[in-house]
Amino acid sequence: MTNFPLSRSEIETISEEFETASPPEIISWAVETFHPNLVMSSSFQTHSIPLLHMVRQAHPQIRVCFLETGFHFWETLIFREKLERIWGLNIVDLRPNDTWSVFLRRFGRNLPQEDPDLCCYIRKVQPMKIALQDAQAWITGIRREQTDNRAKAKILELKKDGVLRIAPLLNWRKADLWAYIQKHDLPQHPLPLERYPSIGCKPCTRPIRPGEDDRAGRWDAKGKTECGLHTEMFDRPAITPSDVTFTKK
Ligand code: SF4
Repeated sequence: MTNFPLSRSEIETISEEFETASPPEIISWAVETFHPNLVMSSSFQTHSIPLLHMVRQAHPQIRVCFLETGFHFWETLIFREKLERIWGLNIVDLRPNDTWSVFLRRFGRNLPQEDPDLCCYIRKVQPMKIALQDAQAWITGIRREQTDNRAKAKILELKKDGVLRIAPLLNWRKADLWAYIQKHDLPQHPLPLERYPSIGCKPCTRPIRPGEDDRAGRWDAKGKTECGLHTEMFDRPAITPSDVTFTKK
């Protein structure tokens, strides 16, 4: 998308200023600066709901991208539908690009176990990148305390394909989310009560054990902590099935 309204140095300056701003202040700026070329992504976990609530208050019709991988817990899908209905959200379900149809028919079921990076690329990273082609800015709920990779993030980051990633909750801790959820009496996903504090796709999420980190149940024993939306995978050139060598084990 052309006519980006900010230079790189302006982005850096504003990002520094936002280190002491509240999430609603950052979201209001994003709406004023970028709407209607603004989207947000949401995984519809309980921890996602404060950001959805804030964005909806700033502008109820912001596009909310949901990565429909085909592997979600049914509790997540029901929770997503409930919020869409009671809050009137403008949700867009993102699915793998059609170029992967034949490949996924052959290998799709095995990918989470055998090549989770490729699976996340096809089912999450590429659909999100395609959805961002007609946007200037993207609001995401990442927080610095979640992973080492996220600890290094900035509130505003201009990605290689020219989209500004905005992370209003970057400095929030888990306690801030829970305080917000309780203050506003927000709906909650049922699975955290069953020891799933962080919920992704079903094949790649297990309940945590006492004393484990909240994200310990994600991609357990797969040497992976992120899907790729917030790693260097996001900035790599696009790949197609002809770039991939994959044989079912
Ligand atoms: S989280 Fe698992 S099932 Fe979901 S896209 Fe990534 S590898 Fe595939």
